[in-house]
Amino acid sequence: MLPPRCHVCHLEPARPPLGDTRNDFVPVYFADAVNPPPGWVGHPPGAVWFCGEHAPLGSEREHLGSDSALRDIDTALGRLPRRLPKADR
Ligand SMILES: [Zn+2]
Repeated sequence: MLPPRCHVCHLEPARPPLGDTRNDFVPVYFADAVNPPPGWVGHPPGAVWFCGEHAPLGSEREHLGSDSALRDIDTALGRLPRRLPKADR
């Protein structure tokens, strides 16, 4: 699993001694997410991190594939769509 980093605002958990730590990051598993096999190390395809504030943007769209969902979120936010890094299989 990649370390938490919000797809929307790129917020990452603050590291001490910065304080103001946020631990409300949630992974959203989109329709194309697969269940990683036992012993899997890495980031599951189709899973995307969101901070607590932006999690609803993701969970509202978890019935979509991750590509369409992220494009849809980018469009809703009025910014240019970004490509998802392709996971190694
Ligand atoms: Zn965010």
